[in-house]
Amino acid sequence: MTGPDRIVPLFSSSSGNSTLIKSRGMYILVDCGMSCKMMTKALVESGVYPDDISAVFLTHRHTDHIGGVPVFSRKYHTPIYGTRATLAVLEGLSSPVTEIEENDIVKLENGPEVRVFPTPHDVAGSVCYRIINSDTGSSFAVMTDLGRVNDGMRGFARACDVILLESNYDPYMLENGPYPWPLKKRISGGHGHISNPESAETAGYFISNGTRKFILGHLSPHNNTPVLARETFVNLLADRGFVEGIDYEVKIAKKDGPTEGFVL
Ligand SMILES: [Zn+2]
Ligand SMILES: [Zn+2]
Repeated sequence: MTGPDRIVPLFSSSSGNSTLIKSRGMYILVDCGMSCKMMTKALVESGVYPDDISAVFLTHRHTDHIGGVPVFSRKYHTPIYGTRATLAVLEGLSSPVTEIEENDIVKLENGPEVRVFPTPHDVAGSVCYRIINSDTGSSFAVMTDLGRVNDGMRGFARACDVILLESNYDPYMLENGPYPWPLKKRISGGHGHISNPESAETAGYFISNGTRKFILGHLSPHNNTPVLARETFVNLLADRGFVEGIDYEVKIAKKDGPTEGFVL
């Protein structure tokens, strides 16, 4: 397989997440959180057959990230990578399984390098990924379910070409929305998800350090809207002196189907 590197979010929300990445001629998935049937349909729509996927890297064990893994594994036997805590909840796989650890660097044979970094999300073994093409140096980061962004995470994804960055909720909508108080606290308390303003602040750091392309993802269907996520992002960054179209580009990942991402 040749052709440029690319990133295509297939599904992105609290209902299911998966991101297709092509790097150094190899297709990989980060997460497989929708049914095998839906995953297959989204892949084919993106011009890729499930058999073409060389590896699935899992961020953590929440269902919206791993829900489709058992059936996908039985059908396509795709190698699965995850931390011990994530792999522990997966049963009935018929794939090669590789346990990874926080801070690992996985060098896929004839493919990209995948770096692993821990996130302070509320289940053990939660990680984010940076996928690097060692020939060109270009890289993608997939950063969702972040809890709260810390200096380590900022350093980890610094100067990435494209970052799929969580923008989970609008603080006002969460505060005044339908969720019970404990769930509101779980989401915003530093081990759940990051808000639209937190996402924009984080992007400001990344823009200052060379990143130009962002995809906002994992939007809450109840506590956010694509319009609000984009407006908050663009307005907050404008306050910091960064102008959309000049200093950076931003796209919003669709909840339930492939989003035209970025080609490098
Ligand atoms: Zn999630
Ligand atoms: Zn999660």
